[in-house]
Amino acid sequence: MKKSFQAVKGMNDCLPSASKIWQYLEKSLRNVVSNYGYEEIRTPILEKTELFCRSIGEITDIVEKEMYTFVDKGEESLTLRPEGTAACVRAGIEHGLLYNQQQRLWYIGPMFRRERPQKGRYRQFHQFGIEAFGFEGPDIDAEVIALSARLWKVLGFADKVELQINSLGSNEARQNYKQILVDYFSNHTEKLDSDSQRRLLSNPLRILDSKNPDMAELIANAPKLTEHLDETSKTHFEGLCKKLEELNIEYRINPTLVRGLDYYNRSVFEWVTTDLGAQGTVCAGGRYDGLIEQLGGQANYGCGFAMGLERIILLLEQQSDIQTKLLSAVDVYFCSMGEKAETYSTSLAERLRDQYDSYRIQTHCGGGNFKKQLKKADQSGAKIALIMGDNEVENDTITIKFLRQDREQVELSVSDLIDQLGELLG
Ligand code: ATP
Ligand code: MG
Repeated sequence: MKKSFQAVKGMNDCLPSASKIWQYLEKSLRNVVSNYGYEEIRTPILEKTELFCRSIGEITDIVEKEMYTFVDKGEESLTLRPEGTAACVRAGIEHGLLYNQQQRLWYIGPMFRRERPQKGRYRQFHQFGIEAFGFEGPDIDAEVIALSARLWKVLGFADKVELQINSLGSNEARQNYKQILVDYFSNHTEKLDSDSQRRLLSNPLRILDSKNPDMAELIANAPKLTEHLDETSKTHFEGLCKKLEELNIEYRINPTLVRGLDYYNRSVFEWVTTDLGAQGTVCAGGRYDGLIEQLGGQANYGCGFAMGLERIILLLEQQSDIQTKLLSAVDVYFCSMGEKAETYSTSLAERLRDQYDSYRIQTHCGGGNFKKQLKKADQSGAKIALIMGDNEVENDTITIKFLRQDREQVELSVSDLIDQLGELLG
């Protein structure tokens, strides 16, 4: 026996049985973003490594241990993108989209992080994200959050997710706060795990992000960033809270929410569910007003989010009626028997496709009697089977069998079928 192959660990195939739910999700996402007037941007999956080090930050989980980085044959260090914002900003600067302009963009695609694979955490995963550039006020923060809230409503799990928000303040306020944090944690070094001890000097804010339950109490008692905000950030944050209230979007202020990437400032938020165990964050985002300048562009504002689609699929799979929301692959299954009928049915199927380009019309291939063909028709998920045999060829008619309704089969002229297919499918 020859050796067979398996996919790379933590990277999943999406088989036809699963792709229906993905298509349903992707369609819903596209509808919602276009509902808000956002435009799609597509960037390459590979970028120069330096882009991620400079944007995400050297002392972060992603850059320290999770990136797929390699040197290509041109001796350049390249990295499979671990997230979408850096590339969006890079592309925006490169093509002049961000210079004194406003943009509302969205993207979808695979991201790569070498983490320990588990439910809701993979090495190739998919993110959908939006980025709004050039807006200073909290109105855009609220819009970005409202768009995500609408998604939960559309997908039917608004009651399963909680919005948590926080403000990271200005860079300056954060620098001051860092010192306050260092002082606090330095008095409790014996309670810090090794990761946090290492971060104490390099990136103390990240300690607040720790998921280690042994440190939960220490973190809960730490001085709060919200108590050390600069005035402008405070007003901005109050503005966001007010807008959310006007929009009837419930939120909880979580003072330890700091996000795992360096580029955030002012408003940050996460949508969290308790239905997915440890992997509870389904969407995360905030403002990143310094990032464009940091990556070499003219300073401009930024705000956005990214959501992990695998986690959203897991939530959708928990819905008892999810199957009824998905499209079957086939609407019409075309059966035929006898040489003339087969030839005629192939060309008739093409005429139907010309006329109805949104219906899925599958023709039977491989012969066999009608019983066998109708079994296939049933398995295809089609709503109706079209049947053409010698009789039908002779009379220029076609028999329609209803596969999902308790309804007598009917025989129609071919021209009536062409006219009435839409009605027959209901
Ligand atoms: P976590 O704390 O779960 O590791 P993160 O802070 O690293 O998340 P972000 O970089 O903010 O995540 O990414 C945004 C979203 O992408 C997350 O909220 C999550 O839904 C999803 N996500 C991140 N990493 C993974 C992964 N390895 N597999 C699946 N989804 C992921
Ligand atoms: Mg992570």
